[in-house]
Amino acid sequence: MRRKVRTRIAPSPTGFLHLGTARTALYSWAYARHYGGEFVLRIEDTDVARSTQDSVDQILASLRWLGLDYDEGPFYQMQRLDRYRAVIDQMLAAGTAYHCYCTPDELTAMRDAQKERGEKTHYDGRWRPEPGKTLPPVPEGVPPVVRFSNPPEGDVTWDDLVKGPITINNREIDDLIIVRPDGVPTYNFCVVIDDWDMEISHVFRGDEHVNNTPWQINIFNALGAPLPLFGHVPVILGDDGQKLSKRRGAVSVTAYEEAGYLPEAMLNYLSRLGWSHGDDELFSREQLVQWFDGHHLSKSPAQWDAAKLGWVNSHYIKQTSDTALAALVAAQLQRRGIEAPQGEALTAMCALFKDRCATTAELADWTAMYFAPVSPSAEDLEAHVTEAVGPALETLAEKLASCEWSKPAIAAVIKETLAAHSLKMPVLAHAVRVLVCGRAQTPSIDAVLALFPRDMVIARLQAV
Ligand code: GLU
Repeated sequence: MRRKVRTRIAPSPTGFLHLGTARTALYSWAYARHYGGEFVLRIEDTDVARSTQDSVDQILASLRWLGLDYDEGPFYQMQRLDRYRAVIDQMLAAGTAYHCYCTPDELTAMRDAQKERGEKTHYDGRWRPEPGKTLPPVPEGVPPVVRFSNPPEGDVTWDDLVKGPITINNREIDDLIIVRPDGVPTYNFCVVIDDWDMEISHVFRGDEHVNNTPWQINIFNALGAPLPLFGHVPVILGDDGQKLSKRRGAVSVTAYEEAGYLPEAMLNYLSRLGWSHGDDELFSREQLVQWFDGHHLSKSPAQWDAAKLGWVNSHYIKQTSDTALAALVAAQLQRRGIEAPQGEALTAMCALFKDRCATTAELADWTAMYFAPVSPSAEDLEAHVTEAVGPALETLAEKLASCEWSKPAIAAVIKETLAAHSLKMPVLAHAVRVLVCGRAQTPSIDAVLALFPRDMVIARLQAV
């Protein structure tokens, strides 16, 4: 019988939502939505020392920003300890788990001896109960761990949704610690109980967990719990071909939000990192859901491509209404300490500059000149604000002081000034741009000037 599709994302709250986790969340979400199933959020916070509420808040905010709505949760593992303990007790009673009293020193000595003999290091099973075996005497004052009694032989096989069939022999797998000495159960155990209790049918997660899956499958089987299907998504490599990591640049969803990327663009771009639908590069959230059926997931690592993300984002910037952009740009400016009143003016600025911007931060770069002083570079001043153009700038300032303040009127005044001083357009326009906008290149100067308050233009022209 086919199970109802239920997927989950299970981030550990030890930092921001990583791009890799965001992509897994996206795949899990899209898969659930495609099949009319449910998407569950679980916070894996058993690493108490590193888990923080701030990280939880950031993760929730990033999921919300990306529009990955969940149907259930967030469930917190630390609130499920009683349930884990009950299962552990059952397993101890059933003999599928046992106490191990090895001290850290003993384990080190065990590994050293194995290394010396040229063996692969492993737990040697000294506390594993076996028929006819006498266990060592229980030492005093050593808090035990609980280990899972892994089947000693046979293969663990699963048909990975991404990687295809995978087989691992049980002889290669240790008896895993499922409860630490402090009594807190470990990831590989909790994840199984949770996926079981939450009736997860499909587990999408990062490649780094592929080695954990045989243990998890064995635990599922030991509990008589139905197995989910697993799909291990390859890592994302940075521009430099190395695993995407903090040391090499921004890796959190939050960082991209702050840098002025749009959620639709991130969703679109992230989904293509490891999945494809023919040659389609730009598609909507609805199309993604319609197409994301679990096929065409790539087995090989995806390469982060900042330029392509920029291209995708500029597409969505063009699609976004000027009013919506104005709100985002105002927020960008505010972060820089620039107050930009939202309204018609800012909206018109977004309309004027959006076609040349890959991010709302770039759009903020353009609009900042309207709200904060500009500082033209010495080179631009020297190259464009020459003595020859000085008299024309004066004339222009005078004429602008009394003309109608509109794009056509400003264009007419510029034309008159050019004629009066026998100058060519670029000479005057460059000088005006450098002085008023702080840069030598802008869209059509009349359009750019018309969005300034008249006084600001005249003051900047006369500042030479
Ligand atoms: N907490 C794990 C992680 O963040 C979840 C792994 C899983 O999905 O099973 O990597």
